[in-house]
Amino acid sequence: MGRLMNGREYLESLRRLKPTVYFMGRRIESVADEPMLRPHVQAAAMTYELAHDPRYEELMTATSHLTGEKINRFTHIHQSPEDLVKKVRMMRLLGRKTGSCFQRCVGLDALNSLYIVTYEIDQKLGTDYHRRFVEYLKKVQREDLMCSGSVTDVKGDRSLRPHQQPDPDLYVRVVERREDGIVVRGAKAHQTGAANSHEAVVLPTRALGPEDRDYAVAFSVPIDAPGLIQVFGRQTNDTRRLDGEIDCGNPNYGIVGGETLMIFNDVFVPWERVFMCGEHEFAGRLVEVFATFHRQNYGGCKTGVADVLIGASALLAEYSGIAGSSHVEDKLTEMVHLAETCWCCSLACSYLGHRTPSGAYLADPLLANVVKLNITRLPYEWSRLAQDLAGGLVTTAPSEKDLRSPEVGKLVEKYLARKKGVPPEHILRLFRLVENLSLGGQLPECMHGAGSPQAQKIVIRRRAGMEEKKELAKRIAGLERDEHLEKLG
Ligand code: SF4
Ligand code: FE
Repeated sequence: MGRLMNGREYLESLRRLKPTVYFMGRRIESVADEPMLRPHVQAAAMTYELAHDPRYEELMTATSHLTGEKINRFTHIHQSPEDLVKKVRMMRLLGRKTGSCFQRCVGLDALNSLYIVTYEIDQKLGTDYHRRFVEYLKKVQREDLMCSGSVTDVKGDRSLRPHQQPDPDLYVRVVERREDGIVVRGAKAHQTGAANSHEAVVLPTRALGPEDRDYAVAFSVPIDAPGLIQVFGRQTNDTRRLDGEIDCGNPNYGIVGGETLMIFNDVFVPWERVFMCGEHEFAGRLVEVFATFHRQNYGGCKTGVADVLIGASALLAEYSGIAGSSHVEDKLTEMVHLAETCWCCSLACSYLGHRTPSGAYLADPLLANVVKLNITRLPYEWSRLAQDLAGGLVTTAPSEKDLRSPEVGKLVEKYLARKKGVPPEHILRLFRLVENLSLGGQLPECMHGAGSPQAQKIVIRRRAGMEEKKELAKRIAGLERDEHLEKLG
């Protein structure tokens, strides 16, 4: 019988792994204990910790449809539209608790996508992928593992297909097929949470033709598999972590996800962990299903983070003596409206989810893409409003070191003061939080996470039902008969 890890046990489980992770030219000894990674690790740890709080149990846990056991919802296969709704409610909750990206959703989405698409491959081609995948999924559920969802290849020259690239490794591919498994080579970019995952779950990044069949590969490996090398990316203001607490803005949970360049340098994958190998005609379907699931999320996690930013803006207004003035109220209301608009979209695409042949439920693809396209725009607007409300100190505030300085500290405090009784340090902390949430990596992540805006527009246009809309217009404009109207006599 499996058991749900809590946050501390998650940290301990990471210490038992030995992934190869580099940052700033040096090898990271322990992902769980490295100060540069620690905030991201703590954000991910909340996906474990909150599952043990009775107040959040209904959202954070589920019953496995495979074993009947209680599992963390981050390893669950959605069995109904209600499950899809609980998923985005869980994400809003975690966004509110961390003010950051808690990373574990990408693996959840990769697991659900593979569950759906391996079934479809087997149905059409008589392969054995779904059984293999279900066995793997049972292990993930039983051991409460965090998986990366490794999709985005580095892609090289964007005008060339994978097999046309001068360097064939710019998309992850099979370089050797052996009796006991395959050997893969290539690299995935922007891998959220991968450094602190237990497992890497890898999917193709695009639709593929027959010449690209070596690139049609999906599999999983332990995160410390030989040949798997990660390079942790820089983030805006990341070294503030080494300078103390206040300047970070969100010292405990970080600056969005914490991404790595994930290099598969001839990694061996046994057949039991291979979930697609050469079935190029299913690569597009796998990508579309994954994108639907991941785009569904953003009106959950990002609105949770927006709740924190709106709260910080309201507190700063209060502490500055401008709360209640009509322009402040108007801007705060506008921020709430923008955030709740995104939330509506996430709920809508979840409620309109449908059953796939595998039995698992998938969010509505058109509306999921609308969610994500809104997230490439509306957070810029609510961040603009937060900066407008806060004022210039968002970018000019003195450092924590100056606040604590024996020479100048008292003067910094004196001139940071706002309303009587509010400690100046609290003012500084709130400005730094607004800075963290409205600048830095937050906005590019909203733009490109789960795919860039053009990717969403392609799906929206394809699924818009334009022919049907034209028919509607023809009837109303009198170009065609209106059978119902005729019945009125
Ligand atoms: Fe989850 Fe949001 Fe982070 Fe994506 S950006 S991994 S959906 S928290
Ligand atoms: Fe993301």
